[in-house]
Amino acid sequence: MIIFKTVAGLQHWLDNQRSTGKTIGFVPTMGALHSGHLSLIEESRRRHPVTVCSIFVNPTQFNDTKDFEKYPVTIEQDCRMLEQQQTDIIFLPRVAEMYPNGLTAKKHYDLGKLEGVLDGAFRPGHFQGVCQVVERLLQIVQPTELFLGQKDFQQCLVIKRLVEIMAQQDGAVARPSVNIAPTLREPDGLAMSSRNLRLSQTDRQIAPAIYQQLLQLKENLPKIDFTILKQTAVQNLLNAGFVKVDYVEIADAGNLELANHFDPKTKFVALIAAFVGEVRLIDNMILN
Ligand code: AMP
Repeated sequence: MIIFKTVAGLQHWLDNQRSTGKTIGFVPTMGALHSGHLSLIEESRRRHPVTVCSIFVNPTQFNDTKDFEKYPVTIEQDCRMLEQQQTDIIFLPRVAEMYPNGLTAKKHYDLGKLEGVLDGAFRPGHFQGVCQVVERLLQIVQPTELFLGQKDFQQCLVIKRLVEIMAQQDGAVARPSVNIAPTLREPDGLAMSSRNLRLSQTDRQIAPAIYQQLLQLKENLPKIDFTILKQTAVQNLLNAGFVKVDYVEIADAGNLELANHFDPKTKFVALIAAFVGEVRLIDNMILN
């Protein structure tokens, strides 16, 4: 395993690999790694001779400074996990390496309706920051395939859109395929997340209620009016001990347009974002 901290060093090494015909799988992360992250690395390693994992807590995607400051950082443990996983390359850049021209956004990505709903609405600027960092990472790594987790459902759609935008604006950069891996969960159903490290013991007991509500939505989807389904889920989360529910929504899984009634031809996804204590958790489930 090699750790690169500079763009130039990483690019030089990857150019050599590419020149011998090797394909490159890429797993971008913000660290505090868990088995969900490792499942993406495993899939990349199965499919490509070279796997790059980046660890970078991206300041521009945090709309809340406290959330950024409290984001868990466990670099040494992360490196040990990646070594055990036989990851080829860790890219561990500093902020100045990723943002040589400063953190202020130089351009706006047209994400269409994706930006106005769900996390786009509740975390203003978040997806612009995600696009800023992922565009830079894709330009640096130029992967054959990009591995993302369904856990961040809206982010997956945003990054697919970004890949299209990049292909239109810059034909020279080969377009990576996007591979979306299923959400890994704890035995009680809680979606694995770096933010789970911040949960108190009590809140950790409360947190799986999100998964329970997703299962309820799935079970009742065709039978009950969506408005009632969503209101019931919000109330159940609050009763379970969540302090605030940003949203419980049911949407078309293809474009995240919010839906009000069942239609057997549409693939629906339920998405939840809610606070337990100070920690904001998100999760989702395909319903039909
Ligand atoms: P993060 O470090 O949270 O930015 O996540 C890095 C990548 O890992 C993203 O593509 C996430 O969607 C994915 N990921 C996060 N949690 C999980 C999980 N529980 N199962 C599978 N993938 C995940």
